[in-house]
Amino acid sequence: MIRIVCPGCHAPLSSAELEQATIDGHLSLICPECSMVLLTEPVEEDLVQPPEEVSIHG
Ligand SMILES: [Zn+2]
Repeated sequence: MIRIVCPGCHAPLSSAELEQATIDGHLSLICPECSMVLLTEPVEEDLVQPPEEVSIHG
């Protein structure tokens, strides 16, 4: 299993321990200890999402 040492808090983290989040459409791995973004995967496929219609009422 891949282990990543967080450059922020130096915690050895396995890939299963990392939190996943999508930032700007990019899958990112986030340190659960200090919330530092460790990796950001490039978007390989063209999964361009149309902008959601925002309706603000009152
Ligand atoms: Zn960390």
